[in-house]
Amino acid sequence: MYSEIQRSSDRGHASSPVQVDLRSDTVTKPTAAMYDRMVRAPVGDDGLDGDPTVRVLEETAAGILGKEAGLFVPSCTMANLLATLVHVQRNDQVVLEARAHMYMSERGSATFTNAFYVPVAGTDGAMDLDRFVDALQGGSSRLRTALVSVETSHNGSGGTVLPLDHMAAVQGLSEERGIPVHLDGARLFNAAIALGVEAAAITRFATSVSLCLCKGLSAPTGAILAGSAGQITRARQLRRMIGGQQRQAGIMAAAGLEAVTAMGQRLLEDHGRARRLSERLNDHHEGLTATFPQTNIVQVDVEASGRSAAEWVEGLEARSVLVRAISRTRLRCVTHRHIRDDDVERAAQAFGSVASAFADDRARA
Ligand SMILES: *Cc1c(COP(=O)(O)O)cnc(C)c1O
Repeated sequence: MYSEIQRSSDRGHASSPVQVDLRSDTVTKPTAAMYDRMVRAPVGDDGLDGDPTVRVLEETAAGILGKEAGLFVPSCTMANLLATLVHVQRNDQVVLEARAHMYMSERGSATFTNAFYVPVAGTDGAMDLDRFVDALQGGSSRLRTALVSVETSHNGSGGTVLPLDHMAAVQGLSEERGIPVHLDGARLFNAAIALGVEAAAITRFATSVSLCLCKGLSAPTGAILAGSAGQITRARQLRRMIGGQQRQAGIMAAAGLEAVTAMGQRLLEDHGRARRLSERLNDHHEGLTATFPQTNIVQVDVEASGRSAAEWVEGLEARSVLVRAISRTRLRCVTHRHIRDDDVERAAQAFGSVASAFADDRARA
């Protein structure tokens, strides 16, 4: 029965024609092995005695991430919020790169943290270090910097991977001033595979780290926050305060265990297909410029086509290819487990077909 669920969900959408869904790696469904583990997982009340499968996931993930302790949370957004709450007092500032997810998409968390978020301009997700030092010192506001945050792979910059020497420099400059560094590692495993290193070789440059289980790693839901035993004890109290404690969460943690132990290696395939998609778009389509991806995210600049990103999204959707507009002139395509070689080809052809349709429109006008 579970393998049937798996088979029917494997291609994402039940309706025909089958869509090529490049909107995000969050659309990935659980694997058959995840369903099997979920069925067999021992569970308990994580608010009372603790859920045994959650405990195993927290210990296993902490080990993989090279930290003392781990905490299972419903989302990576919550993991980042808890890390901030652990380190930051009212009126402190958090310094981070200007296109970081924690700045672009999550800074509404200021409602709960009462902190100021100070964006530092960067290149490919790496902060300019001179500006970073200026920001650490509080600028003219003279606020205390209580937390620095870095992100790898870097979502907003097109899945770029921070060079380890950059991470070491950020950590060194922060540590000198007694400031902890949090790593938003939602797609940390993509970064590790791209660099050819273990995840722990990246997380050593941060005090705490968050990892998303439900992106390329394909778990249905959840994230891990890992750090020192003291930080995680505090984060566990805070998680309860904000309603993030879940009872028989072992069912989800079981899928998470499969995600952290078995799903990292295959991300390399996604990276290969992202490169292939980028090459196809750059080679064959005038009016489109695709970034050369380091991981599984391709950004496509459509400005030279004379059409908006929203018009491209619509044209592609009519050809059963789903992508997202991230600005007026940019699209984002993300490869993942349900995207195969022929899907990349279909996507490239759909881009070509939309480009021809736009050209015909121009000729008629
Ligand atoms: C997706 C993402 C998040 C948020 O993850 P959720 O589990 O959806 O809350 C945080 N940071 C980065 C870099 C992300 O890409």
